[in-house]
Amino acid sequence: MSIQVTLISHSEYPLRSLYMAYRTCYSQLTPQQVCDRIESDRITHVQMRDFIEERLKTGHASPLEQVWFELGISGVSRAFSHQFVRHRVGISFEQQSQRYVTYKKGAFPYTVPKTVAKAGLSDEMEEHFKKVGELYEKMVEVGIPAEDARFLLPNATNTNFKITVNLQSLLHICDLRLCTRAQWEFRKVVALMRAEVVKVVPEIGHYLQPKCGEYRLGYCDESYEDWQGCPIGRVRPHKQVLLQVYDSYRKGEIQPLRDEDWAAIEERA
Ligand SMILES: Cc1cc2nc3c(=O)[nH]c(=O)nc-3n(C[C@H](O)[C@H](O)[C@H](O)COP(=O)(O)OP(=O)(O)OC[C@H]3O[C@@H](n4cnc5c(N)ncnc54)[C@H](O)[C@@H]3O)c2cc1C
Repeated sequence: MSIQVTLISHSEYPLRSLYMAYRTCYSQLTPQQVCDRIESDRITHVQMRDFIEERLKTGHASPLEQVWFELGISGVSRAFSHQFVRHRVGISFEQQSQRYVTYKKGAFPYTVPKTVAKAGLSDEMEEHFKKVGELYEKMVEVGIPAEDARFLLPNATNTNFKITVNLQSLLHICDLRLCTRAQWEFRKVVALMRAEVVKVVPEIGHYLQPKCGEYRLGYCDESYEDWQGCPIGRVRPHKQVLLQVYDSYRKGEIQPLRDEDWAAIEERA
């Protein structure tokens, strides 16, 4: 079963929720008056978008908590789910139980990573899982509860989620999990979550980026070695490089423009 991510529901009008949250802080108008102006088109969609864009350049992040998304996520491994549920703030999870769900005939769904297939070991892995499934079934048949029979099951076993996440938390999750340092499955799930949000609110969705994205930090704060090995490193500076530039500037070591530079600028032959 392949990974599926579906946006089930979201704040009724995410842009309005976010605009109202910010506007309430910076306006003499009451939130009700702001809402009326939006309803009567005195405040347009474009004005809301532009105002939000300016606010997002600041560190005022709490209004982002007022926008939420509900998603269904299926066909993901328990290797992924162990990592996913480590996020503690602004996200609520419900996950398929291995206590209350018994896999019929020991046929548990699972994920085989591409690297295993590429190494020509997927048949062996699946053969192993078949044996695990047979023993699981045997245990269930003799009355061992599913909550104990599951001790056999591998990290590859698939699971499903229904989650609700607010925009602030989703931005944080994208910061970390769209980074090329994150595990491939997590990156894939979060990229699909992002795509679902972009479909309904592109104005907000495009802020969902890895932390080095132009709308986030704009630079890489991972180790220098990781940055060197990153395929996006070519277009994102590392923090060390930025600090070196700052240090050179502070010490007056920035190279002055030379005659040949001026020649290039002025297109002198
Ligand atoms: C590349 C990568 C590798 C990882 N490797 C490992 C690993 O080897 N082992 C491992 O155990 N985990 C690992 N993790 C998971 C990591 O340690 C965190 O559990 C995970 O990123 C979720 O926590 P968070 O603080 O980022 O986000 P959230 O829990 O969603 O928290 C959101 C924000 O709230 C803040 N926050 C949350 N709770 C508190 C609190 N109690 N006090 C103060 N601030 C709080 C956080 O700092 C964060 O800014 C890894 C994560 C990544 C991205």
